[in-house]
Amino acid sequence: MTNSIPEWTPGGGLNFELLSTSHHARRGRFVTAHGVVETPAFMPVGTQATVKCVLPEQVAATGAQVVLANTYHLGILDRTQIVERLGGLHSMMRWDQTILTDSGGFQVFSLPERQITEEGVSFRFRSSKRGGDEPVTLSPESAMDIQRRLGADIVMAFDECVDHRAPRKYMSASLDRTMRWLKRCAECPLQEHQHLFGIIQGGMELDLRSKAVEQVTSFRLPGYAIGGVSVGEGHDAMVRVVRHTAPRMPANQVRYLMGVGLPEDLVAAVECGMDIFDCIIPTRYAREGTVFTWDGKMRLQDKKFRKDRYPIDTQCQCVSCAGGFSRAYLRHLLFADEPLYGTLATLHNLHFYQDLMRSMRQAIESDRFAAFATSFRDRYKSAITQATWTKIRTSAVSWASSQSGTEMDADRADQNESPQIQHHVTSRSLRACDGRYSSRGQNWGFIG
Ligand SMILES: [Zn+2]
Repeated sequence: MTNSIPEWTPGGGLNFELLSTSHHARRGRFVTAHGVVETPAFMPVGTQATVKCVLPEQVAATGAQVVLANTYHLGILDRTQIVERLGGLHSMMRWDQTILTDSGGFQVFSLPERQITEEGVSFRFRSSKRGGDEPVTLSPESAMDIQRRLGADIVMAFDECVDHRAPRKYMSASLDRTMRWLKRCAECPLQEHQHLFGIIQGGMELDLRSKAVEQVTSFRLPGYAIGGVSVGEGHDAMVRVVRHTAPRMPANQVRYLMGVGLPEDLVAAVECGMDIFDCIIPTRYAREGTVFTWDGKMRLQDKKFRKDRYPIDTQCQCVSCAGGFSRAYLRHLLFADEPLYGTLATLHNLHFYQDLMRSMRQAIESDRFAAFATSFRDRYKSAITQATWTKIRTSAVSWASSQSGTEMDADRADQNESPQIQHHVTSRSLRACDGRYSSRGQNWGFIG
């Protein structure tokens, strides 16, 4: 392991360094004009140039070093001009670290009534606010032009993301067209600080994936992505494609798995040798009431949380958990449709995802990734079982004891009726609020 941080130099590429490996899993680092990215890395999604519900500094505080924004959403109407007028994506969204933009391909291919030709993809953009709809054509040239003007550090080639159930004949023809589109993308001008990644398609057909790797890597780009997974094919099929494709990708370039995924998908993909990931899951699931823990997913809608005074995860250091916000309060905010719910739940999930990536990086550094993956799978369940639930409760008891300095009665803690915890959280929250508002000489009380 080297600790010297590389610097980005114009024309110097991403300077990807492979720092260590643990079987196929890779611990690496690359640098853009906006900073270093330690890999394996997870990119929170900021579709419309914002990670929903949270401030850029809060995203950065979770450990994220790169975020993703969507070309489709920022390329329609007059949005690209607005971004340009505001000095580009970094300046506009007040995020000074690395940004990656997708090419818009994934979104347009999911639209109904789209028309695919050699030129590109035509569709109608319907806007209820504008009272009409307008025809839009996205081509390799226009997708690259939008991305150049948005100014992200990493930009993605325009490709066709094919339905994984498409017939082989269509898949093969689409792959050939995507290669012709990549050639056109590679000829488009970019800003000096921007780097183009090519996308490997081929659906579930492994020989087409091999062919795509060969063709895409012949362009000698600074990074390559696997696209067309996480589109409904399921975990096992996704892993089968990634396990086949990743080792065929260049070892000295960044490997990006697009649109993945759930925690178990990330562990499996890192195990296959992938480096960077993006997905809407942590943020969208949070807003819809599902939060992640090392024991599995927790649905805050569940009635059992109605009186639960513990934070989502007593071991978690996020703003929500360390701040003492209880599951019952979060559930209340969720049902009351309060915006603070989205902020707290999103910050917890983003923190969990970054914690997972940090743990994977450490496991690779000490060459024990296989053991890490096994223990993760043993513990993490897609739905928390009753046995695990009892275990979590026990750890919650020790959390409460350590917080309040008093011994807790396990049975009472199980009933969620501990006066000590209530006192602790309430008094701490009051102190926090008193401190915040007394400095302004105002007393706002607890009026929402
Ligand atoms: Zn948390």
